[in-house]
Amino acid sequence: MNYFLTEEQQTIRDLARKLAEERILPVRAELDEKEEFPWAIMRDIAAADLFRVFVPEAYEGLGGGCLELCLVVEELSRVCSGVAVSYAASALGCLTLMEYGTEAQQQKYLPDIASGKRLGAFAITEPTAGSDAANIKTTAEKVEGGYLLNGTKQFITNGGEAEIYTVIALTDKTKGARGASALIVEKDTPGFTFGKKEKKLGIRSSATRELVFKNCLVPAENLIGREGLGFIQAMRLFDRSRPGIGAQAVGLAQGALEAAVDYAEQRVQFDQPLITMPVIQHMLADMAINVEAARALVYAAARHVDSGARNVTEPSAAAKVFASDAAMKVATDAVQICGGSGYMRDYPVEKMMRDAKILQIYEGTNQILRNAIAVNLRKRKGRAA
Ligand SMILES: Cc1cc2nc3c(=O)[nH]c(=O)nc-3n(C[C@H](O)[C@H](O)[C@H](O)COP(=O)(O)OP(=O)(O)OC[C@H]3O[C@@H](n4cnc5c(N)ncnc54)[C@H](O)[C@@H]3O)c2cc1C
Repeated sequence: MNYFLTEEQQTIRDLARKLAEERILPVRAELDEKEEFPWAIMRDIAAADLFRVFVPEAYEGLGGGCLELCLVVEELSRVCSGVAVSYAASALGCLTLMEYGTEAQQQKYLPDIASGKRLGAFAITEPTAGSDAANIKTTAEKVEGGYLLNGTKQFITNGGEAEIYTVIALTDKTKGARGASALIVEKDTPGFTFGKKEKKLGIRSSATRELVFKNCLVPAENLIGREGLGFIQAMRLFDRSRPGIGAQAVGLAQGALEAAVDYAEQRVQFDQPLITMPVIQHMLADMAINVEAARALVYAAARHVDSGARNVTEPSAAAKVFASDAAMKVATDAVQICGGSGYMRDYPVEKMMRDAKILQIYEGTNQILRNAIAVNLRKRKGRAA
């Protein structure tokens, strides 16, 4: 399908694809097995200038938008979703800063993110606040010289590896979510430590850790925007980042489809290659239809975000939900087509099926996002968005 990408977008996509095939493919199984953070690959991504893609030109970036970010994430995820999310989480960690930060804050942090010298991360989730993200308990008490941060963030991607964290905390705990604010917290700030690295089902090369704040003094100038806007900023961030999860799903599903076609061509049973059997052909056709439909929706949602439209909640959520459900189905069917071999770690589809599950869970579970879409449907009484 022709998505009428510009020459620059095609160049970005081709660069990411080349890097993924040359640098990630040879080590993806080892990274997964060892649950090792892909630092060498992060450096390759930096050397290829791909961290610059989502940063404005004024801060040493390439000035790309949501679609350009999606193109990179898709290509990385086609080979390894663990690497793709480690890359994407750096963008997640600085998008709030890019939208609401002061000139001084952006000058201070964005060039390092663009060069890949430092990684970013975003932290809202807590033990009591997952789907109910408004129920955060971490506090940021205003004191002389800044904010005193106390509390624990849970399941944070790039935790421990990133150096720049956007943290949502209550500057006024009497107001609940309306008392939340976004703060930039640097890794070596006294009082900021990390909990254990989580052992996960999939995306095992990515790092997922607790962030622990105990009387951690954050300078007042690290507040992003105004006090009390943190929850709204976080919701707006997810509206803009969810097509990226959709892109992760499209890449993963594309990789699984390719692996299944390869296997079905080579594997002979009953004296014929699997790919000549109508049942297998129909499974592969359905997988291909799902991948393309997901890609079309993700690119459309990303373009909607890049258009500057005010309300992007619904297309973003729809792209994330559809693409992640498609990826789960495609990866499961890929394992089915590969039979017993597909269940073994020697074949990539085993990892892809494990990696796919998280896409239905993070950045808003698919149930929560369906709730959000349903609310919008009621508001518009089912009319087209
Ligand atoms: C690997 C990984 C990486 C992550 N990275 C980050 C990160 O970088 N930063 C960050 O802030 N967070 C991160 N998260 C957190 C993630 O966004 C949350 O796990 C997710 O939002 C779900 O929250 P929960 O795990 O507490 O599940 P819960 O909220 O406890 O939900 C459990 C189940 O109940 C369902 N449910 C809950 N409420 C409702 C409802 N009202 N209607 C219907 N169903 C409902 C959910 O859909 C889900 O199926 C990460 C999580 C993981 C696992």
